[in-house]
Amino acid sequence: DELPADQLDTLSVVANQLALQLARVRLYQAVESLAVTDSLTGLFVRRYFMEFAADELGRSRRQHLPCSLVMADLDHFKAKNDTYGHLVGDVVLRETAQLMRQNLRGIDLMARYGGEEFILLLVETDAEEALVIAQRLREAVEGHPIRAYDETVQQTVSLGIATFPQDGGALQELMQRTDEALYAAKRAGRNRVVRWKREVG
Ligand code: GH3
Ligand code: MG
Ligand code: MG
Repeated sequence: DELPADQLDTLSVVANQLALQLARVRLYQAVESLAVTDSLTGLFVRRYFMEFAADELGRSRRQHLPCSLVMADLDHFKAKNDTYGHLVGDVVLRETAQLMRQNLRGIDLMARYGGEEFILLLVETDAEEALVIAQRLREAVEGHPIRAYDETVQQTVSLGIATFPQDGGALQELMQRTDEALYAAKRAGRNRVVRWKREVG
């Protein structure tokens, strides 16, 4: 109010410039976070997960700490889409991801690996601890039917685990074995957790 008119003009030019710069910064941040997170689930994307996991595995190796990989896949999800439609399916997928995320520690990383498949890195977590965590995630999903539009959908997940270092030393090998454990869980009837061992491979 106290500024003379000519200074007010100058100030509005500066303010406009500043607003423009701020908009650019916000746009940049939005694009950057879009690139690392999946728009449906809000989880990290696979590429980001792989970078993080490679770093974390290196740290585990240097510090002689265990860490565990978990893969989770929604059970009979195609039938959910066929029965209720894709819109309901999308909500079920998003809510399942959230239920799992809420039951993890903040330091653990969870990403959308593929369509209805998630991958998790449990830092400084050995196989026994990973089993307890994976069971907790499985129970969280089983215990919370999901409301989507006018439907209530009962979803379950199957999970596979492999642990560094005893189940593998390299990320690719660990991922392969986590996947084998997941498919053993599917074969065994779904809605269960399987830890990798030589027989499941
Ligand atoms: P299984 O228990 O063996 O995993 O059976 P499944 O039906 O879950 O497995 P399948 O691989 O046959 O089907 C996966 C389905 O997931 C098919 C695909 O349309 C659906 N899907 C993948 N991504 C999305 C998505 O973003 N939204 C919705 N609504 N469906 C998705
Ligand atoms: Mg599935
Ligand atoms: Mg799948």
